[in-house]
Amino acid sequence: MAIKFKVLKESTDTKARLGELETPHGIIETPIFMPVGTRATVKAMTPEEVKDLGAQIILSNTYHLYLRPGHKLIEEAGGLHKFMNWHGPILTDSGGFQVFSLGDLRKITEEGVEFRSHIDGSKHFISPEKSIEIQNSLGSDIMMAFDECTPYPSTYEYAKESMERTSRWAKRCKDYHHDWENQGLFGIIQGGMYKDLREQSVKEITDIGFPGYAIGGLSVGEPKELMCEMLDFTTPLLPKDKPRYLMGVGSPDYLFEAVISGIDMADCVLPTRIARNGTVMTSRGKLVIRNGKYSKDFTKLDPECDCYTCKNYSRAYIRHLFNVNEILGARLATIHNLYFLIKLMENIRNAIKEDRLLEYKEEFYKKYGYR
Ligand SMILES: [Zn+2]
Repeated sequence: MAIKFKVLKESTDTKARLGELETPHGIIETPIFMPVGTRATVKAMTPEEVKDLGAQIILSNTYHLYLRPGHKLIEEAGGLHKFMNWHGPILTDSGGFQVFSLGDLRKITEEGVEFRSHIDGSKHFISPEKSIEIQNSLGSDIMMAFDECTPYPSTYEYAKESMERTSRWAKRCKDYHHDWENQGLFGIIQGGMYKDLREQSVKEITDIGFPGYAIGGLSVGEPKELMCEMLDFTTPLLPKDKPRYLMGVGSPDYLFEAVISGIDMADCVLPTRIARNGTVMTSRGKLVIRNGKYSKDFTKLDPECDCYTCKNYSRAYIRHLFNVNEILGARLATIHNLYFLIKLMENIRNAIKEDRLLEYKEEFYKKYGYR
């Protein structure tokens, strides 16, 4: 099997756990944050830089790579690892999230989803089988089952119908996939904001059986309390001996909540996206570097950070770069934000090891300015 998971330690005061996830391209320490390389690149960074920041796994998007440059081209190049020169583990999503986000441009049937490309309006069809075929061509270590990320808000009826279809599609994904030696496949739990539907989804997806499970359809616009409630309800229902992945979460408070509920993996475009807009996360909270008050601030972005950016450049310099639209500004801010989250997860793992996760959370929140 491509994916092997070991829980090394369970936290005593929370549901957090420390683990080791083995993939064909290396071992990942969990809990882990995964930087997103949507179109086979973590925007503004070389894969070598991403690796040097301490990233152990990256995520890439099936929908985007299917449209451009095409999965067959990537297969011809020798797979995604070789094509983009990233030799660590890669997780690919199923394409479902992007396809369903197309709104009027898509039509759902039991068979799959027909949609028009957001680029040129051309017609395409992705089914569970097609999603697996594309991810097989990409050669990712961890593939995701084709699902519908239930929008928020959704009626009970719609959330149920969508969740049950996701279960049927998960079964088709599992049946279609064959190369379990080289590629793992995770099932996805849906069910919207309804506990009984989440419970039913966990039962159906774990009955099919996957080497790992993701929780989808959270952090989609619902209030934080509701997301925490659903997360805290759903995560413990998942098998203890399999990795658990919370999709689309990347702010420090959500990462803490995820880990505390028993999540092992998370991903989000947040750190790289806000970096390109000139917002950085620091131990003292978020900072908008374009702000005029930093024009003569010759200190580093974060007094506690020892990333490449903080070691070498001042707030004043980075503000100047953003102010005159120099691309180096986006690069330096991206380096810092990714490092910040990678370091945060490392600190979280150490805190679990030393049984002081809640203490560390309180310390972090106080400084960051949460609550
Ligand atoms: Zn830094």
